[in-house]
Amino acid sequence: MKINQILRRHLQAVKPYQSARDEYKGADGVFLDANENSLGTVGEGDFNRYPDPYQMKVRAELSRQKDLGLDSIFLGNGSDEIIDLLIRAFCEPHQDKILIMPPTFGMYLASASVNGVELVEAPLKPGFEMDLPLIKEKMKEQVKIIFICSPNNPTGNLMNRDLVIEILENFEGLVVVDEAYIDFSPEGTILPLVKSYDNLFVLQTFSKAWGMASLRLGMGFGNPEVVNVLNKMKMPYNVNGLTQQFAYEALLKADEKEEMVSEILEQKKWLFESLNSLPLVKQIYPSDANFYLVKFDDPDQIYQDLIAEKIITRNRSRQYLCEGCLRITVGTKEENQTLIAALKKMENE
Ligand SMILES: *Cc1c(COP(=O)(O)O)cnc(C)c1O
Repeated sequence: MKINQILRRHLQAVKPYQSARDEYKGADGVFLDANENSLGTVGEGDFNRYPDPYQMKVRAELSRQKDLGLDSIFLGNGSDEIIDLLIRAFCEPHQDKILIMPPTFGMYLASASVNGVELVEAPLKPGFEMDLPLIKEKMKEQVKIIFICSPNNPTGNLMNRDLVIEILENFEGLVVVDEAYIDFSPEGTILPLVKSYDNLFVLQTFSKAWGMASLRLGMGFGNPEVVNVLNKMKMPYNVNGLTQQFAYEALLKADEKEEMVSEILEQKKWLFESLNSLPLVKQIYPSDANFYLVKFDDPDQIYQDLIAEKIITRNRSRQYLCEGCLRITVGTKEENQTLIAALKKMENE
């Protein structure tokens, strides 16, 4: 992949904003360069200094854990920011397109729309696998980025690795594999392939398995040239200091994440068996994530009845191939029991 062939022309000449903290990198000294309040912070905490614009501590730890060079790692204000930056980096509005595979995560469409970038759709096949011949056909339509969500939201399945490789080998633009749920299916990660394919960019997040959705931290892994472009475009302090600190501490306790994942997977098994025994439930699709796509005869009614019990699920029944389906996250033991009890009650009414 030749980065300059897919990068938007005007960005090739853009120089990044030089923040005060770019110019002097030492840790101690008398800092009179950034017009901060040297006296301190109003209220609790120490927030008076601008954070590290390149999140060196977090990225160095990720570099170690993921076995990737520092220059292959980009951090964003959630993966959402990275999705948006990628679209803005490579797609000329009203001209270039992104390819998505419905039913999938809504953010690709949302970011493309906001940026005036059109979508090309290559819907998944029944059973939710990718339609390779269709993708190969559609990728010719001025497509710059192909988004593959794996495990896919809302269907829950991991995408076939051989098909992902086929796409990497046949597409001249960027292939973004969104692995937001990969911690629930660790053997499924495609991350090692970023060393062999310079057009592969992998997204992961602290929002799901790490339990840090509120802190907003997404990870992007891939070609250092792509990382460079994103660094040039991003807001200088896109990841705040508190998030950097908590993410770093979390990375040092990765075993805690693993323990939570095992517990969630245990609950997931219980939830499957319990749902599976209910006549209301027509089908439960296989899942590599922390949720199930579940089919009912009357999803709107079930959805509303659950809301009345203050149980909130995601109604996906109007999405392509998801007719009749609610997406249900695996919760705590008590939450899952509450859900099953409510569904049983509906069954008896
Ligand atoms: C939840 C989710 C994300 C996470 O986005 P953040 O901005 O990192 O919170 C990304 N992709 C998919 C498919 C998701 O479902």
